[in-house]
Amino acid sequence: MPTCTTHEEAWTQFLQFAKAHCSPVAFGNWLAPINVVENDSQELVLEIPNVFVQDYLLSNYKQDLCAFLPVNGLGEPAIRFVIAAQKKQAVQSMPVVANESVSEVPAAAPARNNADVKLNLGYLFENFIEGPSNQFVKSAAMGVALKPAHSYNPLFIHGGVGLGKTHLLHSIGHFIRQHHKKLNIQCITAEAFINDLVDSLRNKSIDRMKRFYRSEIDVLLVDDIQFLQNRLNFEEELSYTFEALKNKGAQIVITSDQPPSSLKLSRRTISKMEGGLVALMGAPELETRVAILQAKAEQKGLHIPYRVAVFIAEHICDNVRQLEGAINRLSAHCRLMNLNVTEELVSKTLCEMLQHAPREKISVEQILKSVADIFELRVSDLKSTARTKDIALARQVAMYLAKDLIHESLIMLGEAFGKTHSTILHAYKNIEKQLALDVNLRRQVDVARRNVCHK
Ligand code: ADP
Ligand code: MG
Repeated sequence: MPTCTTHEEAWTQFLQFAKAHCSPVAFGNWLAPINVVENDSQELVLEIPNVFVQDYLLSNYKQDLCAFLPVNGLGEPAIRFVIAAQKKQAVQSMPVVANESVSEVPAAAPARNNADVKLNLGYLFENFIEGPSNQFVKSAAMGVALKPAHSYNPLFIHGGVGLGKTHLLHSIGHFIRQHHKKLNIQCITAEAFINDLVDSLRNKSIDRMKRFYRSEIDVLLVDDIQFLQNRLNFEEELSYTFEALKNKGAQIVITSDQPPSSLKLSRRTISKMEGGLVALMGAPELETRVAILQAKAEQKGLHIPYRVAVFIAEHICDNVRQLEGAINRLSAHCRLMNLNVTEELVSKTLCEMLQHAPREKISVEQILKSVADIFELRVSDLKSTARTKDIALARQVAMYLAKDLIHESLIMLGEAFGKTHSTILHAYKNIEKQLALDVNLRRQVDVARRNVCHK
């Protein structure tokens, strides 16, 4: 920053920079409402509509702010924030609350009607396939749905992506909606909660929102709580909500991609989440994956022989969403070509997808065959000690693919090629470098990679 610019000019420059780096909506919501109120030599004083704007600014733009504005002794941008709303609130809060409470009952109630809660229609307990990895979490979810706030509260479900956390969360919602008609359910992702909060701050309906969340809900289902990490004030708001709801005897269910203790949230929030039952949603075992595949195929009117289902399930191991993707692809393909599902068809249709999972199934021999084909050489050439340019390059490509596709140590791979581990590493680095420069080689390697599972 040139020394002659005032802080205010620097702020304007920052705004121009930010405008070019975020969406117009984000800019309008978060940055446009900020005013410069003081501009002394030490720090810039910014007036913000609420504390969330400060959070947003610092969590998204701290480094950029440091580049544009003076920095304090702690290496932080020298900004002091004052909250505009606080000044006005003293004058405004009475009429705002009064107005709201007049319109609140008729206006708020229909919008928050249970019928309005967005639950995926297919996410029902009946469609959830059980196996040893998810039996416990499913029965905990059913316990909560049968007797909300009487068994585990909160119920905290965690596990990897695509394993059925949202499915179970919505199943609880459906079940309660059907069997406990009087209970008011709210199902929301942590991200949507934040957005709701921001909206209500802008519309000055924050009191109504707080009241709704803290006193009108009987069952709060919060999906993907990990989005709350590093969003300090939002976390605080949700934490108060949890406390208020628990005190009034409401049920809370939370999902997350990590256990509570790994989340970057305050001790207080974490201990609240640990206070009920923490249940892990594991990746389904082979038998369960086969059952899921067959159920999903049946739903699509597709018949998959058991042997083929096992074949797919052996290759796609750790994500149910991918299993579903496989079925969708197969079903589209079969319908289009009017074909029956055979193992061969499956391996062709799903080859790309299967490559992510079957690393341990691929052998060095398959890779050598695939690479030999594309370079128009013999496998024996690749295994020989010949050092002609073509053969040496193809051999290195095979080593490169082996390191990429086979889950083994470099030493084991070296042994399979009759080389040392450092030869494999050298080959890998060399090919990696060349791939960045050589389009033709990139194409050859892509084709070889794709063909590996047909060999
Ligand atoms: P997560 O929220 O854990 O990322 P989802 O609940 O969105 O995962 O599940 C991904 C997809 O897999 C959904 O379509 C869901 O219906 C399906 N699914 C996951 N687990 C199962 C299961 N055990 N039985 C049937 N379908 C499942
Ligand atoms: Mg989910």
